[in-house]
Amino acid sequence: MKSKRTKKRYDIYVCMMLIMGSIFLGFSGCAAMEDGKTQASSVGEADITATEGSEESSTKAAEGSEEADAMAAEGNGEIREAGALPEIKITFFDVGKGDAILIETAEHKLMIDAGYEDTAEILLGYFKEQRIGKLDYLVLTHFDKDHVGGADHVLEAVEVGEVLQPDYQSDGKQYEEYEKAMEELGKEPMLVDETMRMSLDGAEILIYPPQRKEYEEEDNDFSLVISMVYGEKSFLFAGDCEKERLKELLGQEEFSLSHNMLKVPHHGRKEKNSAEFFEAVSPDVAVITCSEEKPADGEVVEMLEGLGTDIYFSTDGTVACFCDGENFRFF
Ligand SMILES: [Zn+2]
Repeated sequence: MKSKRTKKRYDIYVCMMLIMGSIFLGFSGCAAMEDGKTQASSVGEADITATEGSEESSTKAAEGSEEADAMAAEGNGEIREAGALPEIKITFFDVGKGDAILIETAEHKLMIDAGYEDTAEILLGYFKEQRIGKLDYLVLTHFDKDHVGGADHVLEAVEVGEVLQPDYQSDGKQYEEYEKAMEELGKEPMLVDETMRMSLDGAEILIYPPQRKEYEEEDNDFSLVISMVYGEKSFLFAGDCEKERLKELLGQEEFSLSHNMLKVPHHGRKEKNSAEFFEAVSPDVAVITCSEEKPADGEVVEMLEGLGTDIYFSTDGTVACFCDGENFRFF
């Protein structure tokens, strides 16, 4: 048996041991906590990084899916709430068997081709009448005289922002005149050799360039092809594409070929894959830029009529389309 005193000493000893132990444990606990904190904070930081990373990737994914949804909607033609969009106007000038098309949005003007040299007056007359002093874009689909012929006159008559063209050379007289006018204005054209996208007051425009450096048909198949989506309506301007370029269009996956309106390629000339192309586009309305002397091929008209497409011919005069993103009207 231990005496009380002994016990007391023993108690003091135990107590001191406990205190020392506590102090030791306290320190090591603190150290452990420190470590814990360090670890925790580094885990925390890792978490934050991971969270930020995942937030970032989920934001991207959301953007991606929004983008994908929008693209899918465009593809299906069932775009956002439309209808209340400002009206745009598309004019297909009667320049005979040639192209000169003006797209007028709320704030911008984009011209596709400029017709012949001797039909330039028609365009300049319209600019004067409508008080148009500036074109934001002039897109030359290719350099045949019925597309580039009036370009020098347009460039001299109004201010032109950007001139876009395919990346190839021509030795045609009208092309040379256009080049000379550009030189005199100190302008450099933008060579479209990759798919280009732009947005003009809600009109989503895609310019699809030739994918090859050589075609059997040296000029026409270099045509820049333009797709425009405005609200629920879509428009395809197919330049003078012939069979090789139509095949390319049928095979590409950058945009859906299905459009509400088609500017029929090459003034209504029939190609061996015309039927396949028209079916893929399946337009509600087609515009054919042709003349009395050089009308569209009967088979092309039949193919389009077979698809239930309404056809407007520039032979009957300038064709105008008004579109509010939900409906369009042709005159
Ligand atoms: Zn042409």
